[in-house]
Amino acid sequence: MSLFDKFKPLAERRAALAELEANPFNVVIERILSPTEAVVNGRHTILAGTNNYLGLTFDSRCIEAAQTALREEGTGTTGSRMANGTYAAHLALEQEFADFFDSPTAIVFSTGYMANLGILSTIAGPDDVILLDADCHASIYDACRMGSAEVIRFRHNDAGDLEKRLRRLGERASKTLIVVEGIYSMLGDLAPLEEIAAIKQRYGSWLLVDEAHSLGVLGQQGRGLAEAVGVEDQVDFVVGTFSKSLGSIGGFCVSHWPELEQVRYAMRPYIFSASSSPSLIASTRCALEILREGDELRSRLWENVHRLYEGLQSLGLALGPEPSPVVAAILEESIERALALWNRLLQRGVYVNLMLPPATPGGHCLLRCSISAAHSYQQIDVIVEAFAGLEIAAA
Ligand code: PMP
Repeated sequence: MSLFDKFKPLAERRAALAELEANPFNVVIERILSPTEAVVNGRHTILAGTNNYLGLTFDSRCIEAAQTALREEGTGTTGSRMANGTYAAHLALEQEFADFFDSPTAIVFSTGYMANLGILSTIAGPDDVILLDADCHASIYDACRMGSAEVIRFRHNDAGDLEKRLRRLGERASKTLIVVEGIYSMLGDLAPLEEIAAIKQRYGSWLLVDEAHSLGVLGQQGRGLAEAVGVEDQVDFVVGTFSKSLGSIGGFCVSHWPELEQVRYAMRPYIFSASSSPSLIASTRCALEILREGDELRSRLWENVHRLYEGLQSLGLALGPEPSPVVAAILEESIERALALWNRLLQRGVYVNLMLPPATPGGHCLLRCSISAAHSYQQIDVIVEAFAGLEIAAA
């Protein structure tokens, strides 16, 4: 008997994967060349699965800001925000997020995962309810497990099902926090946020939107889906990450409720983990400024999105329901065949994400692309050609 016995099935599955030329869960970027290119398995590869939506990881201004902070403030803070880990730059970034969202307050966390853990596990207490979309990210589920609220799921993107459950909750609806995402990371579909916000208002509930994949991507100013559909006033909390459009690591929460500030020192993931390093904060501040400067990168991203979505559609592939920076080809094939297809893409110099059930909607395997403003048209065309070579049966 060993503590490791329970991992045997996982180890066996991994051993089977090891026989493949490349294992989708153990890809090594041998050399990163740019936001969209790397050397993988000794081969020059186009990266089409990185969530680097604005391509800012190699922006010279962000790099310079990070280098300056590294030189002047050191490699790490070596402490949590509540102890020695709050530098002036952490506060400046919080102010910048507050300004960007026109909110009285913002809180910066070390990752987006921690932002969800901290906010959700603390805001909703034992008398409260969290009503979450079934397809929410693992960090939202983990936050629910960490907290003490009653947790209820509603069917993915089904506003009718959400309303039915709120109705059943009766008076408790006013102590219910609805949790949805702007863009869902599996199929790239958007939440029906106008409808959800209207229901939230009708029942006097609360609404949190995780804009991890929509920050910098949607909305005239890039604030996300709530901005794009004009319901920001009805959203109580926005959570987001720095690890996608902002090209670094960290997370944040903003709210039009000044009371959010009272929650800061009650959140264990905020109190008991070290704060982000000065260089990460510096590059994030710079990336946020670039994101706010204009919508040129956003326009470029959406041109690329449409080029890829239409290209894959013309091959007859089944895709997520609408074009978005996450474009997923939905496969009818077995896991073994999906693995083989993923490997063939890699052999053709295209890296995408392979997503397997049970993590995927409908139990399908997905070849999931994520598109960047930094992709060239030529790279998008190479990605489409690589898919064409797979000869997947049309949907
Ligand atoms: N929320 C969502 C919807 C996400 O997709 C992710 C990351 N994939 C996170 C939160 C966590 O973000 P981070 O990588 O900053 O921990």
